[in-house]
Amino acid sequence: MFAEIIAIGDELLIGQTIDTNSAWIGEQLSLMGIQVHQTCSITDEEAHIIDALNDATKRAQVVIITGGLGPTKDDLTKHTLCKYFDTELVLDTDILKRLEGLYKKYDVPFNAVNEEQALLPKDCITLPNERGTASGMWFEKDDTVYISLPGVPYEMRGILQKEGFPRLAKHFDTPTLVHKTVRTMGAAESKIAKIIEDWAESLNQYSLKLAYLPSPGAVRLRISGEASADANIDLEKIVQQKVDELPALIGEYIYGYEKETIEEVVGNLLIAQGKTLGTAESCTGGSISRLLTRLSGSSAYFKGGIVSYANDVKINILNVSTEDIEEHGAVSQQVVEQMAANARELLQTDYTIATSGVAGPTGGSEEKPVGTVWIAVASKTDIRSKKLTLPYDNRERNILVSANYALGFLRTEFLLTSSRKL
Ligand code: ATP
Repeated sequence: MFAEIIAIGDELLIGQTIDTNSAWIGEQLSLMGIQVHQTCSITDEEAHIIDALNDATKRAQVVIITGGLGPTKDDLTKHTLCKYFDTELVLDTDILKRLEGLYKKYDVPFNAVNEEQALLPKDCITLPNERGTASGMWFEKDDTVYISLPGVPYEMRGILQKEGFPRLAKHFDTPTLVHKTVRTMGAAESKIAKIIEDWAESLNQYSLKLAYLPSPGAVRLRISGEASADANIDLEKIVQQKVDELPALIGEYIYGYEKETIEEVVGNLLIAQGKTLGTAESCTGGSISRLLTRLSGSSAYFKGGIVSYANDVKINILNVSTEDIEEHGAVSQQVVEQMAANARELLQTDYTIATSGVAGPTGGSEEKPVGTVWIAVASKTDIRSKKLTLPYDNRERNILVSANYALGFLRTEFLLTSSRKL
């Protein structure tokens, strides 16, 4: 069974809005076992909408249309759908009542333009919109289902989650699909593949699939299983059992599951252990602090950071030894360890992470090429450091990967293990 998505809106074509709706719908449909074969963005014009519908109908059993449902004149989708499905707009009194109630609740006058939103095609199932005023619509023609949704992402998602996806699952008797994601850091895809070779082979027994999803500095493993709607097996349990076998094999590289980020994982460990964190960042320029403070509630463990980019700041604020900077350079174990230890004293934290490296694309040397980054973590009694040799000449990538690795280093060296004495 195949699906197509038609995203309507001039703003998508002039680059004003990026079509995130199709990306999200595609992800959700694939989780339901419905493959999206094509997506397109089109202008808010009747002829284009009809053409796109005709085209999609030739190939797909599910056609999802987003955008163009507002009450303003430029939103033609509803009228065009009536023409396409040879029907007419009629007043949906339930929707009208709901809209009147909504406007009253927010003390906004209800006018004829708003009333238009209660006019809906006679031959469709209305999909109520609990997050806005434009309802979704479900049409069936021959063997194809068409779902029309407002363009506003929050509203579109709400309607699909509450109404659209459950109806699709019922209508097409879609298979049960289970996907689980294991997040790793610190080992290349090939290294992980070698370690888990036998485990990966064992997935065949249950027809489970394994996908490697690498991104800079990290590899996600996605384990997927599929069973027909009437199969009498607990697919969720089977996939989870296989996931549970992984820590014994690659536990040192696994930092999280599903959508967890390293900063979330570190934050949760710090909260659980009642510890605080600070940063002294050179090449990452505050990126670690930014990752940490993106999370609501991070004030419980993150106290602050010093962006000690220039040597002057390393020397005058962080008391790094001038001799060590001269002798070993700012990108060195000696300097990064002093940054971490001295910043921890200044910030009065349990742990402090420090970074110093060559983010590039310029500034590299034979001895310290672009991608050479020292990271250190200091606690009250210990200090540990590590040299990264990243293969990228892209500045943003070096910064991001270093920031993530530094958080990962804190996790593995301190938060998961008992402290080590210097
Ligand atoms: P409204 O009348 O409230 O604007 P609508 O259903 O007519 O709702 P559009 O006008 O097409 O929807 O889009 C509303 C807003 O939703 C746009 O300004 C845009 O920010 C966002 N949007 C629309 N389509 C998409 C899309 N495909 N991906 C991401 N955002 C979108």
